Amino acid sequence: MNGLEGDSGLAERLAGVRRRMAEACARCGREPGEVELVAVSKTHGPERVREAVDCGLRVFGESRVQEARAKIPLCPGGLSWHLVGHLQTNKVRVAVDLFDVIHSVDSTRLLEALEKACTQKGRTLEVLVEVNVSGEASKYGIAPGELEPLLDFSRECTHVDVIGLMTVPPWSEEPERTRVFFSRLRELRDEVSRSGGYSLPQLSMGMSNDFETAIEEGATMVRIGTAIFGRRTT
Ligand SMILES: *Cc1c(COP(=O)(O)O)cnc(C)c1O
Repeated sequence: MNGLEGDSGLAERLAGVRRRMAEACARCGREPGEVELVAVSKTHGPERVREAVDCGLRVFGESRVQEARAKIPLCPGGLSWHLVGHLQTNKVRVAVDLFDVIHSVDSTRLLEALEKACTQKGRTLEVLVEVNVSGEASKYGIAPGELEPLLDFSRECTHVDVIGLMTVPPWSEEPERTRVFFSRLRELRDEVSRSGGYSLPQLSMGMSNDFETAIEEGATMVRIGTAIFGRRTT
């Protein structure tokens, strides 16, 4: 305890996020329990994670493997850690040791490397495929057209389970402008599920600025950092 804890406003911000999530669910006839809140703790230290745990959070998201490797051992046990940022193939083995869910699988090659690492370590892993629905060159994620070949490969995986799709839309101050990218991800999921018989129940979409829109478009996981922890300074 540094004396500042409790003054950070985390509990209040979290309550506000939960209320807005519930309101978004109510607007579109969904149950609040259908949407999982992934608290993105990147750049924030273990003491802030502990504070969030004291507020009832159990699921945390990190963007970078190196940062997570230093932080997770200093955090309370029994939490669920999700990797939401880009994963390089050379960090796969470390990532498999740290994370319960990986949201950012963006190539068949990466999926193959994860399958191999999980098989060697004798563990199973849930992953989502990150799709670049906007086609913006600066964004990670596979092109929609590459999704089917990747999912086809996933049928052979025995240790990695593809549970859904994830996207990061182009940034916009206006959440309404991101709606089309969320609906496109949902439609793409529905299309490939129908044509290939895949089960992809999870849609990871929506961040601090646009999570309500994402929920209205079917998000089952929202990845929220700033609206819970406040502005990142590093
Ligand atoms: C940082 C990050 C988030 C959280 O962003 P906020 O705007 O702070 O809520 C969500 N998803 C990914 C992939 C991120 O890198």
